[in-house]
Amino acid sequence: MWRGSINEIERTREVIRVERGTPQVGTLAFGIVDRGTNIIEVRPTSLCPLSCIYCSVNAGPRSTNRWAEFVDDLDTLLAALEEVVRFKGTNDVEVHIDGMGEPGVYPYLTQLIRGIKSINGVSTVSMQTRLYMFTEEELRELAQAGLDRINLSIDTLNPELAKKISGASWYDVNHVKELVLQALELGINVIASPVWLPGINDNDIVEIIKWAREVGLGRNKLSPVLIQKYIPHKRGRKARVRVMTWQEFWERIKRLEGELNVKLTATNEELNIHKAPKLPKPYKVNEEVKVRIISRGILRGEFLGVILPLSNTAIFDRVITVLANPTMEKILIGNQVRVRVIENDDNIYIGKLV
Ligand code: SF4
Repeated sequence: MWRGSINEIERTREVIRVERGTPQVGTLAFGIVDRGTNIIEVRPTSLCPLSCIYCSVNAGPRSTNRWAEFVDDLDTLLAALEEVVRFKGTNDVEVHIDGMGEPGVYPYLTQLIRGIKSINGVSTVSMQTRLYMFTEEELRELAQAGLDRINLSIDTLNPELAKKISGASWYDVNHVKELVLQALELGINVIASPVWLPGINDNDIVEIIKWAREVGLGRNKLSPVLIQKYIPHKRGRKARVRVMTWQEFWERIKRLEGELNVKLTATNEELNIHKAPKLPKPYKVNEEVKVRIISRGILRGEFLGVILPLSNTAIFDRVITVLANPTMEKILIGNQVRVRVIENDDNIYIGKLV
């Protein structure tokens, strides 16, 4: 069923296969994101078959602001990751597969996991997913390839509400529950990470906690459930709910912990997250750079470019999102332009035409 949604996406926007050799650091749409810890985020695709009502990155067939999606090149991603892991200089790197979409639909996921697991210095491979897209056989392959943990996005166990929240009438949360049992049997740890939507899934959060504990989520002393607060994002889809303050959120989490006698929080120490060397930022804010525009960016009015000259290493080569009028598409793609960097937080580059 989910493949039908991908076909729907292909009819409404461009699905870009990232070319071999494209720099892998610099965008949130694909590649590698480094935030200066031993956790390295790997983003193989921005495609997502669902259209969750609260999606912070406005993904899926019902996206209102995307005009492109990305499917990364496997070899290029793995080669860059190997360099970044080596740069970290630690033996307990966790590679977390996530992104502005659903990594479970990446066509080379098994090869990706196998490749990541074979990199020296990687101790854990984890993935954020809704899990529904796998058959039992595919899940077995992921386990054999070396997937250690699934962070399961699941907001309710109620099949009807699950369809409403996910914006997909074919989404089957019962199938997800079966796959969770199988994943646990295969030795993959699972942690549930529901988004709390006040007024929509309050009781469902309690049900998820009870179920998670019963079936054995959260091995290795990890909490079985780590609840996320709903935060409306500027360019995301907005759920029609009252937004909790952080204080209210944490008070309610503490209350649930007491009532259900379960731990619902985790420290960085428990999650084995610690500081590790951060990739250098080769370009400063306000700096003018030479850029070859290679494609559309993910959102309408964004283009993706490669900052020149390249040094052929993931440590220094960057892609950049260039903001420009969408009508300039034909003039920009394939050409070189001058761009002023306006943002470079966490090595995610955004620029404007000079
Ligand atoms: S929240 Fe996740 S699963 Fe839902 S539409 Fe967004 S990216 Fe897809």
